[in-house]
Amino acid sequence: KVIYNEESTKSIGNDLRKVAVQPIVNYSNISKSYGDLQVLRNIDLDIAPGEKVALIGPSGSGKTTLARLLMTLEEPTSGTIEVDGEMLWHQKTNGKLVKANEKHLHKVRGNIGMVFQHFNLFPHMTILRNVMEAPRNVLGLSKEEAMERAVTMLKQVGLANKIDVYPAQLSGGQKQRVAIARALVMRPKVMIFDEPTSALDPELVGEVLEVIKAIAAEGEMAMLLITHEMDFARDVADRILFFDQGRIIEQGPPKRIFNNPESERLQTFLSRFN
Ligand code: ADP
Repeated sequence: KVIYNEESTKSIGNDLRKVAVQPIVNYSNISKSYGDLQVLRNIDLDIAPGEKVALIGPSGSGKTTLARLLMTLEEPTSGTIEVDGEMLWHQKTNGKLVKANEKHLHKVRGNIGMVFQHFNLFPHMTILRNVMEAPRNVLGLSKEEAMERAVTMLKQVGLANKIDVYPAQLSGGQKQRVAIARALVMRPKVMIFDEPTSALDPELVGEVLEVIKAIAAEGEMAMLLITHEMDFARDVADRILFFDQGRIIEQGPPKRIFNNPESERLQTFLSRFN
């Protein structure tokens, strides 16, 4: 783990400082249990700014829980999580777990966008209003600014011609593209996609994956992608993490993971997709 450190890099010089990048997300020794069920076991994970990381692995292996911790939708049992150098969950040396205060959490959450399996659009609002809502209410942008941003995002996901319709009038794929626009409009530094296509009819999966690929290609945002679409993971991710039973069993660049899986568990898992 490379942490930018003003003091230590100063003496060594500028060259090192350029390569020493602070991770945008840092999980450190994270464990999570629900009662007796241990769902995550001592997870260490750094995500670099702009890095695209895909989580693959069997159902129930803890992938969603890892993402939900980052959104503070769940509380870790132990460990520390930082986003952009800001503490989200922090475990003190005495073992006590401390959560960031509300003001701080608000700021950290603003750096994270999340797209779920189910789109959760507001049914009584037009598409445009769905996307404008958070920039207006959370960022406090003027109506004009929020609208401009929202329209730009809706264009980006190919829905410029749907801004005045209501969610019920859209296909599942289109709804999911609205959900993506709604997250992107906040300009997060990290986007989490939790099985964004698994609730869709098969013929609608492609259009959503294409939109995500296009966003990934722009490069700036880090992404945490939970997916069962192996071809998609291979195309989009810089790094694949294979999860099983709450542990990262194996990780590496897509080519290595898919062409030369080392562990038997990963080999077995991948054989199901062939
Ligand atoms: P994945 O995303 O890999 O399918 P999850 O993180 O959703 O895995 O779930 C991991 C395990 O945690 C599963 O066994 C699931 O049933 C359990 N689990 C998830 N959320 C809860 C909860 N709120 N209460 C109890 N058990 C849970």
